[in-house]
Amino acid sequence: MAIETCGRCGNQTAKLVKCDYCSRALCYSCVKSSKRKKIDHRYICKNCWSSIAKRSMFKSAN
Ligand SMILES: [Zn+2]
Ligand SMILES: [Zn+2]
Repeated sequence: MAIETCGRCGNQTAKLVKCDYCSRALCYSCVKSSKRKKIDHRYICKNCWSSIAKRSMFKSAN
């Protein structure tokens, strides 16, 4: 399995997820929150969480 680099903190890990608001690859310690959708998950990173606009998008998304 390929080792990938987190786009936010530079951590190297085999499992990254993608922030839905800035499209960066994230390790789990950079994910602020996640939400289950019908077929997938939605993730928001700690940077986007500090933006009121993006945070409210995350909260209202389904
Ligand atoms: Zn990270
Ligand atoms: Zn983000």
